[in-house]
Amino acid sequence: MSSDALRAAGNLAEIAYRLRLSGDPYRGRAYLRAALTLARQTPDLEALRRQRRLASLEGVGESIAGTLEELLGSGTSSYLERLRRGQPEPSSPLGWGPAAALGYQGDLHAHSDWSDGHATVGEMAVAARARGYRYLAITDHSPRLRMVHGLGPERLAAQRKVIDEVNRELDGLTLLQGVEVDINEDGSLDEPDATLAGLDVVVASPHVKLGTEPAAMTERMLGAVEHPLVDVLGHPTGRRPGERAGASYDLEAVLRAAAAHGVVVEIDCDPSRTDLGPEEARLAASLGCRLALDSDAHAPDQLVYVDLGLWVARQAGLGEQDIVNWLPLEPLKEVFEKRPWQRSVS
Ligand SMILES: [Zn+2]
Ligand SMILES: [Zn+2]
Repeated sequence: MSSDALRAAGNLAEIAYRLRLSGDPYRGRAYLRAALTLARQTPDLEALRRQRRLASLEGVGESIAGTLEELLGSGTSSYLERLRRGQPEPSSPLGWGPAAALGYQGDLHAHSDWSDGHATVGEMAVAARARGYRYLAITDHSPRLRMVHGLGPERLAAQRKVIDEVNRELDGLTLLQGVEVDINEDGSLDEPDATLAGLDVVVASPHVKLGTEPAAMTERMLGAVEHPLVDVLGHPTGRRPGERAGASYDLEAVLRAAAAHGVVVEIDCDPSRTDLGPEEARLAASLGCRLALDSDAHAPDQLVYVDLGLWVARQAGLGEQDIVNWLPLEPLKEVFEKRPWQRSVS
């Protein structure tokens, strides 16, 4: 059953995240490799367990096989419980399984070979459709990130033509054109407003100078969420657990502003990021934010990051109504038009 494998993958990804945050990145990376194997191959874990062959899976040694045994037997792991520091697992209305099987309609953050992705927009679209999605946003980088060939107005206009062509040829999935626009140090955005206004979705993310002191960083992030053309705040802290701390600022103030301005806040499911993490995502929801569960895929086989990142939404106690990716395309567009949206804040 693939949902068993994806549940185990989520548990291993959570162990990996907590190990990396708590200063054991080496072990964290080992758990992450195993989690990725399970998410990509969705093996029949029960059969492998009966045959005592769990350790034959790529990236799964004796120690991780032991964790898997325990997860399959009892549904939990004493190791994971310890890393959660005794916090009970919140009850979550979200199931386990491939995202699309749970009602997930599409991904709002993915890259193509127009910037630093490894596949064409057409290849990304076909991969998303094969996963059962109804839409996929191509959100390549903005020009300031020269090393990744960020796109300015002219190249975005050229890319639009290619995306239109894919949409004419492909049934069953709508490719959206977006951008992952860099948030400048002064809180402005790295594309002209006229360019942003012509895109289907604008993800604004911090990438450089993440060490800016907190008061200035708060102003910078507020500038982005208060910008009327921003739809999604991408990987809000910019951290990579175990590698890079990310920006430090008044997250609560920025989340409050995001809620007030109808900006969706992202859970970037790339396991090297997991940004926001579960505690922060729970805070965002409690402040009235809607969230997006995105892959930030740079290749077709990275779309699976959403399956792997479901644990974050579950640990945050989120339900389908908190996450915009469960919306069909038309109501999603209404969210991006910033129609007033009332959420009952607990
Ligand atoms: Zn980014
Ligand atoms: Zn990205």
